[in-house]
Amino acid sequence: MQKYLNEVSFQLDRHITLITPTAPIQPATHGGRAKCLQRLVRLKLPVPRTVALSFDTVKAIALGRIPDTKVLLSVFDADALVCVRPSSEDPDWGGPTTMLNIGMNDAACARLSETLGAGAARALYRRWVQTYAVHVARLDPDAFEEIDEDAPDALEQSLRAYEDEAEEPFPQDPATQLSEVLRSMARSWESVSARLLREAKGAPVDAGLGLAVQEMALGLGRGESGSGVLQLVDPETGLPQVTGRYLSQSQGRDALEAGKKALFLTTDPRGPSLQERAPEAFAELLEHAALMRQRLRAEMQVEFTIENGRLFILDGIVVPASNAAAIRIAVRLSEDAIITPQEAVMRVKPRMLSALLHPQVDPGATRDVIGAGIAASPGAATGRIVFSATDAQASAAREEPCILVRRETAPEDVRGMHAAVAVLTERGGMTSHAAVIGRGMGRPCVVGASKMRFQPQRKQIVAADGRVFKEGDIITVDGTAGEVLAGAPKMQAARLDDAFRTLLKWADAERDLRIRVNADTVEDAQTARDFAAGGIGLCRTEHMFFEPGRLTVMQEMIFAATPEDRRAALAQLLPIQRADFKELFAIMAGKPVCIRLFDPPLHEFLPTDRAGLRDLAEALNLPVSDVTRRVEAMGEYNPMLGLRGVRLGITVPEIYAMQARAIFEATLEASREGDDPVVPEIMIPLVSARREVEIVRARIEQEASAVRTERGRDFTYRLGVMVETPRACLIAGDIAPHVDFLSFGTNDLTQMTYGLSRDDAGRFMNDYVQQGVFEEDPFHRLDQNGVGELLRIGLERARAANPDVIISICGEHGGNPESIHFCRTLGMDYASCSPFRVPVARLAAAQAAIQDKIERS
Ligand code: PEP
Ligand code: MG
Repeated sequence: MQKYLNEVSFQLDRHITLITPTAPIQPATHGGRAKCLQRLVRLKLPVPRTVALSFDTVKAIALGRIPDTKVLLSVFDADALVCVRPSSEDPDWGGPTTMLNIGMNDAACARLSETLGAGAARALYRRWVQTYAVHVARLDPDAFEEIDEDAPDALEQSLRAYEDEAEEPFPQDPATQLSEVLRSMARSWESVSARLLREAKGAPVDAGLGLAVQEMALGLGRGESGSGVLQLVDPETGLPQVTGRYLSQSQGRDALEAGKKALFLTTDPRGPSLQERAPEAFAELLEHAALMRQRLRAEMQVEFTIENGRLFILDGIVVPASNAAAIRIAVRLSEDAIITPQEAVMRVKPRMLSALLHPQVDPGATRDVIGAGIAASPGAATGRIVFSATDAQASAAREEPCILVRRETAPEDVRGMHAAVAVLTERGGMTSHAAVIGRGMGRPCVVGASKMRFQPQRKQIVAADGRVFKEGDIITVDGTAGEVLAGAPKMQAARLDDAFRTLLKWADAERDLRIRVNADTVEDAQTARDFAAGGIGLCRTEHMFFEPGRLTVMQEMIFAATPEDRRAALAQLLPIQRADFKELFAIMAGKPVCIRLFDPPLHEFLPTDRAGLRDLAEALNLPVSDVTRRVEAMGEYNPMLGLRGVRLGITVPEIYAMQARAIFEATLEASREGDDPVVPEIMIPLVSARREVEIVRARIEQEASAVRTERGRDFTYRLGVMVETPRACLIAGDIAPHVDFLSFGTNDLTQMTYGLSRDDAGRFMNDYVQQGVFEEDPFHRLDQNGVGELLRIGLERARAANPDVIISICGEHGGNPESIHFCRTLGMDYASCSPFRVPVARLAAAQAAIQDKIERS
């Protein structure tokens, strides 16, 4: 019996071709599996003869134009059974289930009874009748499942059931069977559910399906026979280890479902192994697997069959590996000189790194989803529900993990967010307060979960299906998927290992875009240093005022009746800020630190509820009515477009003066202790007019001169502007000559370009993305056509006016891989992103550089 491929050439046409080393087969015409089989054939591996059907052929089959299957079958041994496997362009896109044992009929059963024994042959036939009935003829499965497979007449019962249900006898002609199998597989690819499924995995609308018709190696026989899969690595860790399954007297992927009945692969004291049962076939298998790794340049899972001690390789797929394993595999392949370090860098998807930086819900865990929103900060955590920052702190004090649930968060919640293991909000979008702070702290966070009802007064949340979760109930926030789960599913710990570091070292050698971090606190800066950020690109100084003691002084400053009172309050804040900056300079050890002057509207620091107003009245020694009136008077209809950013700097100049002084004094103190003088960067937010820059610059320069005189020492600093209003982009040419650097604040810029509130977008963003109005949340991935055009205009005009100006991005998009590619293409000098996104940004920037090199070569 000849099953190996030799140089028989068979080509019905260009679309239906025997897989030979030279046949015209490409992933784009015949699919990834067909191409892989051709590679195995070229390696002279024992692959059973296979005919590949192209996408066009399969499309025609779905429309009823079936090729001549008699001619097709003539390529195989006359008595052979065949199987049909799907071959989509990308194996990830899936496809219909493989069909085995086509051609099994009365005659084949009689023939196989001689070699396998009647029992095995009849069992094989019965199984095929059932598979054909359910998956090809689409008969009622119940009619077959009720048949006891161990009954002596199980086969006859199945054939009768087929005839009853189909109103015709089971087809005996192998060509007819094959035609029907091809038709059913082709049609199932066209079904709506299959299309939706593959589109969700990134397949294009018109993705094609190829089919591979392969002669069967049965896996059944009197000598050692069976089937299995083998790989040379542990798919969980990526470390070298022979893993897989083998089951005697089995076919297809039976071994994977066999549980304890499966044999060990290598010799094992716990039980029988393939190595002992069929040592020669096993040795040959290992050799083939190693060759596949070497020549296919990937860790491959080998699907094999043994028939009476003889080995056949049926297929190979890239090992489905965990994120940690995928990274280790890429690094090891490169260390073994099979792929280059650049290829290793290109093979790891940035989101894989991100998944490793945080604990995640185990992919195999059961997920009881009770709500969904925007995946604002990755990772997952389980805890008891609390509804206030105070309760979160109390819970943390009891060492009880808690989830902070709020309608939305405000500065006064920051301590609660610190104390909680995750945050869930009803409102908000990718750049709302909870999202930005959550990402900064590395806390999993879901925002804009608007389909759940939040009832903080009643201390409960209600899921869309009506289930009620009360304070103290355990839930899980999955900030990677943007979902809220009931209970505590199994989790996977964060894993940063040597392979992760090696890969990033290789990435750093390739990238030409610098990566900085958005860090406001000592912890952020520390995290960023551990992730090798090239400096701080954005320190949002307002976040430094949220600490309890500081908040009160801040509130005193806001409530100051006269400039003198204000200066007095600011005098208390000055040493605190100075110490903050000094610490940041020390942690960043000579790396640049860009400090943004105060940005938010002042009322954000004021309480909103009665208890808070009373506390404030007590702290300020004022009547509550007075405090309430003043707080109300400060309210704005649209505070994001109100008195904030540089507008505060112009109208309440004492705040910026204090901050500038704190920066300069910290600069001198930090420089005294180190060798290299610190050169701080000061950034002015929300600029929309050149005059704003001129005024603030003059005042900062005045403060610098005063400090120089008082301390009798010189220092330098760099001044920059945050370009985050559309007008600032348009007049960037006017602004650039007055500054050393410009940094695009794409959060506000996106908000203003779309006219879309960052805090309210979460309410409808999911609907917008689902209905295809937006391809993606523009607060998550930079809108290259609109916002991107403003960046381009701003950058070109700024560079034309001041070629030395340093240009960067510091909005949240600075951590998004696609947006990083775009910023690099525009020619920016660096991107700055939240601490836990720094490794992802380093990898994405390297991939952009490598891709560019490949395209140019
Ligand atoms: C921005 O607007 O892009 C930005 C980085 O600043 P913030 O998010 O603090 O407004
Ligand atoms: Mg901003």
